[in-house]
Formats: sequence, C-alpha cells, structure tokens
Amino acid sequence: MIPRFRPNLGWRELLAALTPPRSEDVERFERAFADEMQQRHAVAFPYGRTGLMLLLEALGIRGMEVICPAYTCVVVAHAIVLSGNTPIFVDSDARDFNMDLDKVPAAITERTGALIATSIFGCPVDLDRLDRIRASYPRLIVIQDCAHSFAAEWNGHPVQRAGRAAIFGLNISKIVTSIFGGMVTTDDDQLAHRLRAIRQIRLRPASMGKSIRRLLYLFAVYPSFWPPFYTLVNALERAGCLARFVKYYDESLIDMPLDCMEAMTAVEARVGRVQIGRYREIIRRRRAAATEYDQLLAGRERLALPPAIAGATYSHYTVRSDARDHWLRKGIQRGVQLGSLVEYSVPELRVYRERYSSVECPVAAQLAREAINLPVTGGARGARMVVERLIRT
Ligand SMILES: *Cc1c(COP(=O)(O)O)cnc(C)c1O
Repeated sequence: MIPRFRPNLGWRELLAALTPPRSEDVERFERAFADEMQQRHAVAFPYGRTGLMLLLEALGIRGMEVICPAYTCVVVAHAIVLSGNTPIFVDSDARDFNMDLDKVPAAITERTGALIATSIFGCPVDLDRLDRIRASYPRLIVIQDCAHSFAAEWNGHPVQRAGRAAIFGLNISKIVTSIFGGMVTTDDDQLAHRLRAIRQIRLRPASMGKSIRRLLYLFAVYPSFWPPFYTLVNALERAGCLARFVKYYDESLIDMPLDCMEAMTAVEARVGRVQIGRYREIIRRRRAAATEYDQLLAGRERLALPPAIAGATYSHYTVRSDARDHWLRKGIQRGVQLGSLVEYSVPELRVYRERYSSVECPVAAQLAREAINLPVTGGARGARMVVERLIRT
C-alpha cells in the first residue's frame, strides 16, 4: 500500500529525540524556525490551534468576529470560538480551494477583529487580491494560516510574511513535523513579547509524562509507515480500530485536546529543529511529485487539477472529481491510499450549523465532496507509480 502521506523522518530525527533534553531546546527550535521563515520571531506552542487562540488573545481580539474560510481545518474554527470570538465563514474559490477573496468585503462589519487567510493544500493565497482588500480596510488584521503552506510564495512573496502573524501546525501529517506542536511567527516585536508573556501565564510546563508519550508516539510512527506494515495499518484504520489516534474532530463538539495547554516538550523541539533544517529538501520532493502529476494527468476527463503555481508547496496534491468514491475504492484495490481532505465544509458540521447561522457556502460544500489527495511524499518516482496503478486498465 502506498500511503497517502509519509512523514519525512530519518535517523537524525530519531537521534535528536533520544539525546538528553536541554532547557534551551524549544528556544533553539524557535530560532531555526524564524530564520527559515525569514521572520523576526517564532513562538512555539503545543498545537497550532493553541497558538491561534493565544495569538487572538495577544492581539486583544475577544467578543469579536473572525473571518475564516469555510473550507479549512475545523480546529481553526474551534480556536476562534474557544478564544471567545465568533467565526464568520467565507465560501471558497473552486480554482485554488482558498477563500474567495471577492466575498470578503461583504463579511466585514464593525465587529470584525481579524481575517484568517489560509493557503490550503500549500496553494498560496492571492496576495495581490488580499492587498486590495487591505487597501480598503487598512485596520483589518490579517493572520496567515500556513499550516499547509509553510513558506509558499505568491509571485516571489512568502505568504507567511503577508500579515501581522502566521500560524503553523507541526503534527506528523504536516510538511514539517515536531511530532505534535505549532508555531506562531511575526515581525512585530511587541506582539511577540505579549505572546510570550501570555504563553508563560496560560500554559503549564511540559511534564515528564508528556515527553514520554511523545517519544513513544514517535517510536510508533517509524514502523507504521514501513510499506509492508502500512497495508495492515491502513486496514486497521479503515476498520475503525485506530480512530483514537487518527480522528481529530467530533461533529457535535467544539473542543480541544486535554494537553492543549501544556507546553511543547523538548523532545518535540529537537525533532522539529532537525526537520526545519530539511525544509527545502522536503519541498523540492513534493514539487517534483506535483510537476509529474500535472503532466501525467493533464486533459483527463472529469478530473480537475490544482492550479500550477510556482510557489505552491503541496502539503497535498489535490484533484477534484465528481466520482471520488469510485477513485478511493479503486485506490484501495490497487494499493494506493488516496485522501479525501478536507471532507467537510466547517459551517455544515452539526455544531456550527446549529450555533452559528451563516451564509451558504456551496463551493466549499462541493470541494468537500470532490477533493482527492494524491500521495506526494514519494517524489516524482512515487507519483509515476501512483498514476500507473490507478490508470492502467
Ligand atoms: C493542521 C492545521 C492547523 C493546526 O492544527 P493543530 O492540529 O492545532 O496543530 C491549522 N490550520 C490548518 C488549515 C491545518 O490543516
């Protein structure tokens, strides 16, 4: 079974995880992360969502409206709600999966606290259109959600720098991982200072128990993605036996993990530092896979390809098909695990439908039904293998 994704973890990460912890590990990871992202500050959190929640707090945004895409990871909406704000969902643009920026002005009100611009699947948000919105609303605070994009670029301009701050997710399925974890970057000295102060007050220090759990989780990841073993892991996953480890939301709850207010561990920071040092190599591989797919799949009927944008970083290579189930089944038969992320439009999830009346988001709903993620972590050769298996008659 070719896995939907495979974390790019090697012996250096393993060695880093096994080295005795030092008090400055988290700080050193932050420094390396900020340097790679060309930002003045990076502040580490246990999850990306914790970072977003405390960032909103540091920006003084409470009891306000926060604009975000309907088609995004549900944890973003959760963080908005749990920081005492109201999410305002904006429908998507089918061409690049991102928020349809033409629909943003209609969502802006007196109570708007911030706008979360997301480069979903690593497809950079259109910074020219975003600039035009900012020109009309100069006080609008823009937060870049770079959990899928990291340092994606729009016409040479890195998305993470195009706002007051950017948030990143660092779990095992992200482009770069620190086992779990999240990061907030900014060029604003005062904001970084406030964010660190709030983190100091609101997060409890990482416990020994958490460090051990993270280490064990990392040890379990290595064999899970070993190809012969992955077939079994995937069968267990499909049978629902791994739900505890892979499920990240419940349709009827707005909640956070129990350890979401416990600081990032030194183990995670050390793994993250090795990973961020390999960022460029990881991206090169993903781009090579995407280029290969672009060529091999061009012109195929009933299959819409993602836009070919030079600065995209391809957390996912996502095509659209109105016959998704057919493709997912075929994948299983032929030993290719295809993904269906993001498989929901957040305002259509039960809790959000019931508690937050919102405008219709038909494009997001369509993307939720049609998105198929092809494996990208195997590079160009992996992409050729996937197409060969899926397309042969
Ligand atoms: C993963 C992700 C996040 C952050 O997730 P955490 O699990 O809280 O680290 C934020 N936004 C998007 C779009 C994501 O995919």
